[in-house]
Amino acid sequence: MDSQSAAPVERALAEIKAVVGVKGWIEEKAALEPYLVESRGLYRGATRAVVLPAETAEVAAVVHICAAHHLPIIPQGGNTGLVGGGVPPEDGRNIVLALSRMNRVRQIDALNFTVTAEAGCILADLQKAAEEKDRLFPLSRGAEGSCQIGGNLATNAGGIAVLRYGNARDLCLGLEVVLATGEIWDGLRGLRKDNTGYDLKQLFIGGEGTLGIITAATLKLFPKPRATETAFLGLGRVEDAMALFAEARAATADQLTAFELIPRAGVDLALAHVPGTIDPLASPYPWYVLLEVSSSEKGSGLLALLERLLEASLAKGLLADAVIAQSLAQRRDLWFVREAIVEAQKYSGSIKHDVAVPVSRVAEFITRACRLVEERLPGIRPIAFGHVGDGNIHLNLTEPQGYDRAFYLSRWQEFNDIVHSLVSDLDGSISAEHGVGRLKREEITRYKSPVEIELMRRVKRALDPQGIMNPGKVVAL
Ligand code: FAD
Ligand code: ZN
Repeated sequence: MDSQSAAPVERALAEIKAVVGVKGWIEEKAALEPYLVESRGLYRGATRAVVLPAETAEVAAVVHICAAHHLPIIPQGGNTGLVGGGVPPEDGRNIVLALSRMNRVRQIDALNFTVTAEAGCILADLQKAAEEKDRLFPLSRGAEGSCQIGGNLATNAGGIAVLRYGNARDLCLGLEVVLATGEIWDGLRGLRKDNTGYDLKQLFIGGEGTLGIITAATLKLFPKPRATETAFLGLGRVEDAMALFAEARAATADQLTAFELIPRAGVDLALAHVPGTIDPLASPYPWYVLLEVSSSEKGSGLLALLERLLEASLAKGLLADAVIAQSLAQRRDLWFVREAIVEAQKYSGSIKHDVAVPVSRVAEFITRACRLVEERLPGIRPIAFGHVGDGNIHLNLTEPQGYDRAFYLSRWQEFNDIVHSLVSDLDGSISAEHGVGRLKREEITRYKSPVEIELMRRVKRALDPQGIMNPGKVVAL
């Protein structure tokens, strides 16, 4: 901190403390700790205080003070983000603004199939609130017990049901946002049709807190599924998985809810490291698919439809073996394998990629990417898994057995270059669902045109000319 800015910062902090009161203020070192580190430990920052406003007017007052004193604000939700977006910079001259006290569901309009909730509402709590009104809020993922609606929207989160219901952007009808000036924009409309000019909410969705603070949102709800069938399939080739995907979509239409790819190497890691993982099929197969179909109508013949699909795929040679869950417990076991793959990778050095290519090029991408990295480092263990029904592959490269872990991880950029260049050749994206944050801020400049990056900068400069909203993330001023 330089001497000129010291006094205003202290003044700003005192003013903010007066706005939020003791319940909304953390400055004790140990209590700050959980707000300073990225969920995988990739980044560690520093801050003067964590501020927890209780309502939108308090957020606006805090931002107003920060704007007057040029004090940077780092919005934070559940801090489950994977790109360092919610972590404060190391210099500590900032406040972290955490939304967790703003966790009310303001209204469920069952007839309009919408819910309006505050940004700090935990995703699992919102799912529960919708269910109590016989509705479905479909956003769903491993971190749903701690990530928050504001964070989900700010990162345009995806997850396991995007195939049918879309990502956070597709689910949002309206937003309430505190702008970098401290003004409140009330755009909480629950309309499916509204062509009255620029769709401003889209700037803040996926904006990762760099343009404003989302304080509440109106989101779409859906009829609650009354029948769900889950199958775990064993296959020989990733090409077969994608051919099967096309068959499944055509045969089940809108009822296909999830289509997750899992490699044998991932199941092996899960079996080795995560207690409770069950090998789902009698024999091992190089690839697996976790497929789910659901219907809002009970007795809709969903099981028969799934069985017909699997029999036809077996006859075509796309499929080697399959199990259909016979109970809720078995369904949970099958999903547990998928979640355990993520957990298991914490036990080894893993260079990660969250990429998307057109669905028609997923098989080509996986085959070529695996070949390229194996040529560069024999023995490397690629684990390509994820939401391939959306063209989204989590390609994690596990270190070769016995390889020096620190040295392996020091080669992170080298492997990013290989994978991201291929993604670019295939007209894909180097960040499918986790965002840009700090991790990919430089990387996107290599894969987006100068015109696109400049447009992003113009938007940033227009909405946050002082650069106080989450500086150093997504795009440089
Ligand atoms: P945070 O991590 O706190 O913040 C993320 C970003 O949003 C930061 O830039 C922050 O500044 C900004 N932000 C937070 N709240 C606000 C707000 N109210 N207004 C403005 N900006 C804000 N992601 C997926 O997309 N799909 C998955 O399947 C998935 N699975 C995951 C599984 C695990 C085990 C974990 C740990 C993470 C996973 N993620 C996944 C990533 C993460 O859960 C999402 O990015 C999530 O949306 C982040 O929400 P959060 O509340 O934790 O936000
Ligand atoms: Zn994912």
